[in-house]
Amino acid sequence: MSEVSADVLERVVRDEERHLEELLEYLRIPSVSTDPAYAEDVRACSRWLAEKMRAAGLEVELIERGGGNPMVYGEWTGAEGAPTVLFYGHYDVQPPDPLEQWRSPPFEPTIEGDHLVARGATDDKGQSYTHLKAVEAMLAERGRLPVNVKFLVEGEEEIGGESIDAYVREDAGRRLACDGVVVSDTSMYAPGQPALLYGLKGLCYMEITVDGPDRDLHSGSFGGAVMNPGNAVCAIVASLRDPATGRIRIPGFYDAVRPIEDWERKEFASLGHDEAEYAAAIGVGELVGEDGYTTLERVWARPTCDVNGLWSGYQGAGAKTVLPATAGAKVSMRLVPDQDPKEIARLFAEHVRKVAPKGVRVAVKDLHGGEAVLIDATGPWFEAASDVFEAEWGKRPVLIREGGSIPIVSTFAEVLEVPVLLAGLGLDDDRLHSPNEKFNISHYHGGIRTMVRLLDRLASVEGGES
Ligand SMILES: [Zn+2]
Repeated sequence: MSEVSADVLERVVRDEERHLEELLEYLRIPSVSTDPAYAEDVRACSRWLAEKMRAAGLEVELIERGGGNPMVYGEWTGAEGAPTVLFYGHYDVQPPDPLEQWRSPPFEPTIEGDHLVARGATDDKGQSYTHLKAVEAMLAERGRLPVNVKFLVEGEEEIGGESIDAYVREDAGRRLACDGVVVSDTSMYAPGQPALLYGLKGLCYMEITVDGPDRDLHSGSFGGAVMNPGNAVCAIVASLRDPATGRIRIPGFYDAVRPIEDWERKEFASLGHDEAEYAAAIGVGELVGEDGYTTLERVWARPTCDVNGLWSGYQGAGAKTVLPATAGAKVSMRLVPDQDPKEIARLFAEHVRKVAPKGVRVAVKDLHGGEAVLIDATGPWFEAASDVFEAEWGKRPVLIREGGSIPIVSTFAEVLEVPVLLAGLGLDDDRLHSPNEKFNISHYHGGIRTMVRLLDRLASVEGGES
C-alpha cells in the first residue's frame, strides 16, 4: 500500500462487504433506458444514486432536460487551489433480453465465485460506483479530499446520451470546470494487465435504397429486360471495397486519415496479440483486412466500411422466381481522426450515385455519425493514472485504442479541453450488452482502491485553469 493512501485503503478493505451490498442494491433497480416500461425504474435509480452521493458527503442535484432521464450531479469543492476531477458514468443499462439465456434473473444479482452476474454489473454501475465509494471512504476517514471532485452520472448512455451532450455544450465548462475527466466504462487489456484507452473511432452510418419496377416481376417474362434492384445493390456494395487489398474504394475516403504513429505501432505490437486465438474465439478460419496493417491496427486505428444489413427479393423457403421491385443496404463506416463524418457521408453518396447501374432509382440517406477521438496520452494526468494502476495491479497500464465509440468522450475533450482518462476496470469477457453480464468482484474492490490512490496522486499534479 502506498504510504499516502494507507489510512483510506485500510478503511476500504474493512468496508468491502458493505460496498458489495450497496452495489447489489444498485443492480436490483432495472434502469433500462430504451424501454418506456422501465421509465419509473430509471427515475428511481437516479434518486437512489443521488441519495448515496448525499450520504457520501456531496452536494447533489438532479439535472433534467426536457423529457430526458435525469443526470445525477454531485460535487465536493473544498480543496482550494487543488485540481478538480470530473467523474463520468452512467446508471442506465441495456435491456436484459433474451431472458431465457440468463443463468439467473438479470436484476437479481448473483455471486458466482469472483463473478457478480447482473445486467449493468460492468456496464456501467459496478465500474462507475467505484468512484463514489473511493470519495466516500476518503471523506469518512479524513473529513476532506485532497482534490475537488464533481460527478456527472447520466441515464441515457445506452440510448445516445442526448441530454448530457446538450448539457455539457450549454454549460461550456462553467459548472463542469475541471482539470481532467475520469471515465470507467471500458475494459483492461487482459486479466492482470490494466490499460488506458486513448483512441475511439467515429462513425458514419448510411442507408442505400434501390427502386426498380413498380412491383415484383416474373423473372421469366421480364428477366433480361430490366435492371434488377437486387443485382444493382450488389454491384454498389461490391464497388465499396477492393477485395484484393482490403482498401476502401470511395474516392477521397482516406484523404484526411491521420496515419498511425510509429510509437503506436510499437505499443500495439508489444501487446503480443494472438491472431489465431482471436480468430478461433469468433469462429473464423482466417483474418482478412487492409493490406499492410496488423489486426489490432485495422480494428483500432484504420477506417472500415461494412454492410450491416442487406435486403431484397424472396427470403422464404424454396424458390420463387421473381425480380424484386426494391433492394437496400445499411452500410457503416468506422472512422479515425481526422475524418469528418459529414464529408465522408457526402463522398459515399457521390460514389454510390456514380456507380449506380442504369434503370433503377437509388437514394442514399445519412442515418447518423460521430467523430473519432484521439486523446493525447502524455502529460501528468496519464502519468498519475499509470502510477496508481501500477501500484494497485502490479503492472503499468498499456496504451490502447478501440474500434467502438463513446460519443460523450469526444464532447468532453472538445468542450472542456482537458485530459480524459478512460480508466477501464472491466474485462473483455464481461459480456456487456449480452446475457449473463458480469463484473469481477475483485475488480470492483480493486477499482475502489485504485480511485483512492488516484485522488491522492492527483493532488500533486499541477492544477489547470480552474
Ligand atoms: Zn457503458
